[in-house]
Amino acid sequence: MAIEIPKTMFAWRKHKGNPEPGHEGCGRIVQIGTEVKGSNLRVGDLVALHAVPGCAGEDCPECSRDLSQICERGHHSGIGQDGFYAPYATIDIRGAVLVPDGVTPAEAAVATDAVNTAYHAIHRRGEVKKTETTFLFGLGGLGFNALQIVMDIGARVIVCDIREDCLENAAKLGVPASDIVPAGKSPQEFVVENGLAGKIDTVLDFVGTHQTFEDSQHIVRRGGKLLCIGSLDTENTIHMKIGTRKRLSYIFSYGGQVRDLEEVLQLIKTRAISPQVEEGRLEDFPAVLKALGEGKVKGRMALMHE
Ligand SMILES: [Zn+2]
Repeated sequence: MAIEIPKTMFAWRKHKGNPEPGHEGCGRIVQIGTEVKGSNLRVGDLVALHAVPGCAGEDCPECSRDLSQICERGHHSGIGQDGFYAPYATIDIRGAVLVPDGVTPAEAAVATDAVNTAYHAIHRRGEVKKTETTFLFGLGGLGFNALQIVMDIGARVIVCDIREDCLENAAKLGVPASDIVPAGKSPQEFVVENGLAGKIDTVLDFVGTHQTFEDSQHIVRRGGKLLCIGSLDTENTIHMKIGTRKRLSYIFSYGGQVRDLEEVLQLIKTRAISPQVEEGRLEDFPAVLKALGEGKVKGRMALMHE
């Protein structure tokens, strides 16, 4: 069950810990394995490459419970295993999704994680509804996509980031000034001063520091949800008294699934979401890495083989 893909593009992000050799990919099919049955994909098709489609085993503890993104049996492209930095990659056909017209290969590559992880978290885990008021921490590589996903749902979203330029980009997307926490302003004070106390249904924490996790528990309404995606601090403190008395739901999310990716690509096609991605060339990798380290790359950078 193999597809070989040349002209592979991949995107990557600033990352602590072990290197990931390309977990966000997009490429064109050059060959389809003889065991592939019933697929509509053809040689020549441009496909987005989902890194963790799972093994699909009926006896798999994760795949049999609709948790393919945390399956340990299937191949994890670019996550501790061979990924999409290679000019050709062999993948399970279940991880290939046709890229719709109007979506660039760079966008399709970042759609596989930077958009898909946010989409899965907000739609499948947080089940954010149009009637909700949400509070979003972090407008970086994932958070800025999260903002567009929540706006597409139609929910109100209050945005918070320590970077002025990120807040300006949120304003350009149409977030009213009254829903933007000024850089450096305490979120807890902002919520009280702007009549939002008891009104934040869901906090979307795409940062995950001691400070954002602390603020989240204080600003969320009674009966509300804390959606945890960012993990900048590896350990945070749950206030048991706040959690129980406010009857909070702490919801963690990781990655996304192929069906999410199909929906995400349609949202990019209709421009409900426009991922922030710059394009570069593979041979420029060292220079791009340096620029990333110096904070000169916004969102994500997709490197092209050709
Ligand atoms: Zn599995």
